[in-house]
Amino acid sequence: MSSIYVHIPFCKQACTYCDFHFSTNQALRSKLVRSLLQEIEQRSEELSGPVESVYFGGGSPSILSQEELASIFEKLHATFDLAQVKEVTLESNPDDHTEANLKHWRSLGIDRLSIGIQSFLARDLQMMNRAHNAAEAEECIRAAREAGFKSLTIDLIYGIPGQTMEQWQSNVQKAILLNPDHISAYCLTVEERTALHHLVTKGKITEKEDDTIEREYLFLHGKLEDGGWEHYEISNFGKSGKHALHNSNYWSGKAYLGIGPAAHSFDGVNKRRWNVSNNPAYIRALEKGEGYWEEEVLTDRDRSNELLMTGLRRSDGVDLSLLPDAHGKAILQSADSLQGPLGDALQHQRGRLSIEPSKWLLADAVIRELMIEQ
Ligand code: SF4
Repeated sequence: MSSIYVHIPFCKQACTYCDFHFSTNQALRSKLVRSLLQEIEQRSEELSGPVESVYFGGGSPSILSQEELASIFEKLHATFDLAQVKEVTLESNPDDHTEANLKHWRSLGIDRLSIGIQSFLARDLQMMNRAHNAAEAEECIRAAREAGFKSLTIDLIYGIPGQTMEQWQSNVQKAILLNPDHISAYCLTVEERTALHHLVTKGKITEKEDDTIEREYLFLHGKLEDGGWEHYEISNFGKSGKHALHNSNYWSGKAYLGIGPAAHSFDGVNKRRWNVSNNPAYIRALEKGEGYWEEEVLTDRDRSNELLMTGLRRSDGVDLSLLPDAHGKAILQSADSLQGPLGDALQHQRGRLSIEPSKWLLADAVIRELMIEQ
C-alpha cells in the first residue's frame, strides 16, 4: 500500500510565520495545474500496488477552482489504482468553505478536510495575517458537517506571541466544543525569511518563553485526552479510529509519491526525491522535458535515524526490531547512559523505545543524544 501527496503552491495571502513553498501570485496557476497533470502521467509507473491515501496539501489546495481540482482528480483516477483508497484529505482554509465548494469537494470523493483554523481569536488571526476571520473559524466546521464530511481535522497553533494563557485556554475549549474528529496543534516557530522573523529581530514582537510554551502544551494535552482525543503523535490528537492514515504511513516508512513543486517522494525502501521549490522552474522543466527534482539514496544509518526521529514523537515509539541489530544496540546503549530529565523521559518496553506524551517537548533533545553518528 502506498500514498499520494499533491502540493498546491498557491495562497491568497502570506501568513507571517509561514516558510512552506507557496506563491500569492495566481498568474501561473492554470499552467501549473497542467504541469501537475503532466507529472502524474510521467510517474505512473512509480507506485506499485494500490493506493491507500491521497492528500492535497500546500499552500492552500482549497484555493483551486472546481475545474482545476476536478482535472487533477480525473488524472489521478486515470493513472493509479485508487479502488482501495481509505482516506482522501484536502487542506482547506475556513474562508473557502462555501456551500458550493464543500459540495464539490464531496462529489470528488474527498472525505476528510484538514482545516487551517490556527486560532479562534481575531487578534491572533490578524497578527498571523490569516485570510479568515474569527466568525469563519467557528462557522467552517458546522458548514463542513452539514455538507456531509464525516472526518474533520483542525489545525491550532500554540506559543503565539502576545496571546495570554487564558486566551489559549479559551481556544482549546472552543475546539473541544466544536468536537472535530482530529486536532493537529503546532508550536509557532520563528523561521528565517518570514515576516514574523523580521518582526522579532526588529524587537516588535517577543517570542514566548519555553516554560510558557510548556504550560500551554500540557494544558492542551490534558484537556484533549480528558475529552476523548488520543494523543498519538507530538502534534496530533485523534478520536478512536480517526488517526491520520496518510501521516501515519509517512511515519511508518511506507512509500509515497509527491506531486508538485517542493513535494517529496519516498520509495518505501531507501530512495528519497524532492521536486524543485520554484513554480516557474517546475513548469519550465516539465515543458522542456528536463529534470525538476533531486534525489538521494539513504544509508541504513539514515533510515535508522529517521525511524528514531519519527518514532520518539509517537505513542507507539520506535520498534527497535526494524533497525539493523547494531543500530538498535547502539541506541539502547546511549539511552541507558542518558542522565537527568532526558533519561527519565525514555521508556523501553517490549522492544520499543518511547517517550511519554507529557514529555514530548523533550523529544528533540533526546533524539539529538541518541542519533547514530556512524
Ligand atoms: S495558508 Fe498555509 S501555506 Fe499559505 S501562507 Fe498561510 S500557513 Fe502558509
